[in-house]
Amino acid sequence: AAQMSDVNKWYNDYHALRSINLEVARGERIVVCGPSGSGKSTMIRCINQLEKHDSGTIAVNGVTLTGDLKQLNTIRQDVGMVFQHFNLFPHLSVLENCVIAPMSVRNVPRKQAEEMAMHYLSRIHIAEQAHKFPSQLSGGQQQRVAIARSLCMQPNLMLFDEPTSALDPEMVHEVLETMVSLARDGMTMLVVTHEMGFARKVADRVIFMDHGEICETAPPEEFFKSPQNERARVFLSQLI
Ligand code: ATP
Ligand code: MG
Repeated sequence: AAQMSDVNKWYNDYHALRSINLEVARGERIVVCGPSGSGKSTMIRCINQLEKHDSGTIAVNGVTLTGDLKQLNTIRQDVGMVFQHFNLFPHLSVLENCVIAPMSVRNVPRKQAEEMAMHYLSRIHIAEQAHKFPSQLSGGQQQRVAIARSLCMQPNLMLFDEPTSALDPEMVHEVLETMVSLARDGMTMLVVTHEMGFARKVADRVIFMDHGEICETAPPEEFFKSPQNERARVFLSQLI
């Protein structure tokens, strides 16, 4: 679904991504962790070109990113992204939040877009609240709507950047459940999170980043039991 090879990124003098090589296969679930400032957000944001890389190549769905505007639009349609803050449109109902992109970008007729939205909203148990505004929902509900809204574009890759870290603890679980069910459906997912329970449960691989580098890649069992990288070891010991 996505490949990064020898990708480098600088913010002025700061070398934020150092020769990143990463292949996300179709149907694969990858969890990315690492200390603050290690480049996790930068890395996933390069995939949908919210950030531009300076060297190396990134391919999404087999197409190498060139910065071409038309290509960019296609990629943003096919790659869903969920952020720490839910980014729902506050002046639109939950349902409108979900239909606006499919209707305007994919030219899906309203009726069909609403049916699809209701399908995803019922899966996250929000169907009865489709006419509420985001501010009338809890943080956990808003984040589940943000996920449903992304799914309405029928993405083939979903990027998550710390989707639960802005939530009250009691709401983390419901959002993780939604993500677990998405994983079980076979969605390709690249997830920045420190929810190690989630990583254990669904990740095919865990990636540990530090100082802009991928320091370790391992299946969760191995990564948690015996991390090879010293910095990963320190990081994990601080989590618990
Ligand atoms: P966190 O866990 O805190 O979200 P992260 O691993 O996602 O951290 P990034 O946000 O990717 O880290 O940032 C990597 C490095 O790049 C940090 O040192 C950060 O200060 C720097 N950086 C990020 N965005 C910018 C920017 N727009 N301009 C300049 N420097 C930036
Ligand atoms: Mg980040």
